[in-house]
Amino acid sequence: MEIKTGIGQDSHKFNFSRQDKKLILGGVVFSDELSLQGNSDADVILHSITNAVSGITGVNILGEIADEMCSGKGITDSKYYLLKAIGFLNGFKITHVSISIECKKPIITQFIPKIKESISNILSLDIKNIGITATSGEGLTSFGKGEGIQVLSIVTAVKE
Ligand SMILES: [Zn+2]
Repeated sequence: MEIKTGIGQDSHKFNFSRQDKKLILGGVVFSDELSLQGNSDADVILHSITNAVSGITGVNILGEIADEMCSGKGITDSKYYLLKAIGFLNGFKITHVSISIECKKPIITQFIPKIKESISNILSLDIKNIGITATSGEGLTSFGKGEGIQVLSIVTAVKE
């Protein structure tokens, strides 16, 4: 059995002046919160997981490939960037995802079960194999001060 792990990071700034875009985190829509800047839906959690999968496959999706999907084909749902990354796993199966979110707003804790369920559906991964923690980091960084959201992810994949 072969085991690989990948680390991924992403961060986005809030849209302080736009009301027409919705905040989407891990595929879950937060209707009453400020959205994040970005050409896509700016789902910082899914982008972070996508980067972690790229850490395993060695094929980077965010950047050229996702830009082409977004601007070229009009695909703004970040789920499809993650699924694109998964397509390069070459026999490896994701067995665990650990996600660490840093932000002041929104308060993530109460939404963790919903976000886990959404990610579980996208990855076809049992909820018990998804861990999510959230912190404001005592307001020491731009994220903790409420300027945006940062997410770190570690993905584990196994090939039998
Ligand atoms: Zn991003």
